[in-house]
Amino acid sequence: MYVDRYSSHAIDEEDIASVVDALKSGVLTQGAALEAFESALCRYTGAKYAVAVCNATCALHIAYLAAGLGGGDVIIPAITFAATANAALFCGAKPVFADIIFESGLIDPRSIEALITRKTTAIVPVHYAGSLCDMQTINDIAARHNLIVIEDAAHAIGSFSAEGRSAGRFGGMGVFSFHPVKPITTGEGGAIVTDDPEMARKLRLLRSHGIERGELWEQDMTMLGFNYRIGEINCALGLSQLKKLDRSVKRRAEIAAHYDRAFANGSLITPLKIPDQRSHSRHLYPVLLDESIDKAKLFARLRERGIGTQTHYKPIYRHSFYRLALPDQKPLPNAEAFYEAELSIPCHAALSDDDADSVIQALYAPL
Ligand SMILES: *Cc1c(COP(=O)(O)O)cnc(C)c1O
Repeated sequence: MYVDRYSSHAIDEEDIASVVDALKSGVLTQGAALEAFESALCRYTGAKYAVAVCNATCALHIAYLAAGLGGGDVIIPAITFAATANAALFCGAKPVFADIIFESGLIDPRSIEALITRKTTAIVPVHYAGSLCDMQTINDIAARHNLIVIEDAAHAIGSFSAEGRSAGRFGGMGVFSFHPVKPITTGEGGAIVTDDPEMARKLRLLRSHGIERGELWEQDMTMLGFNYRIGEINCALGLSQLKKLDRSVKRRAEIAAHYDRAFANGSLITPLKIPDQRSHSRHLYPVLLDESIDKAKLFARLRERGIGTQTHYKPIYRHSFYRLALPDQKPLPNAEAFYEAELSIPCHAALSDDDADSVIQALYAPL
């Protein structure tokens, strides 16, 4: 089922019951479900604070603002979803694109180091597909140059390092997405986790108009905030989804292992190189196609057979908007090669082993 998409949400009766409870609770926003969801995120990730918002793009926006990145340069991998860079522009910062490691799709620490100038304020590693970036090296670079690290962990809730540290817990702040294609969903939603009480306070203010409540009717707007709140219905869904995250990660790991075995002996289709980590969210199962394969033809043929795939991602600087915004940007060799070679094939909890076999067969059938 659902082999027509590279990733999918999975909703069960428990999720539905949780949402119905929220609807009947008499409170539709900023109530008990939000509090419970944030507490559950803290428990799951080991963070002191979690701030849930309406999506991860907004989460990145207020994380960058809370960190005071406006006016500076923010180093971001060229291979990520546009929002990672867009959020820098929202707050008057400039995204500077680092190259990636071709085999893993992860930001290359050597490329980061080469891009640092006096204007650099932050590094935003992206845990592509659920693989953890080399956070030890990245944190060392950041410490040497006094930079903030904000992890874009939109793909990576459910990923833990070999030492058992959750994605989003290596830098100053970590951002998760709960869009329906991501490891768990709230419909739309996102969250920031941090151990820094001052950051958490700023994030909560930025989430809700910058208004602090005082005694009785007193309210005071102390900073320019937004309405990036997430509703109770969404939080109730997130709460029940989070309970099943480890189970769905396990199922995706089985599908991934199935694919790994199929691709182990060939040279035409290479799975992504996965870092040594205790668990991997397997938000995506990317493969790198040999140059001899006509990706456009393959994509079309898979689609004919009802198999949905996607390329993650077009290097951000290649988008028309960024060509205009950053006309001096040079193409980055590994990002370019990755864009040519990468295809994300269906990998989600609703797939059966037979579904995975049909994907493998379709990939190897002659073009
Ligand atoms: C999905 C995604 C986002 C944005 O998440 P939304 O919740 O859809 O706003 C940001 N960064 C990356 C890497 C993503 O994949």
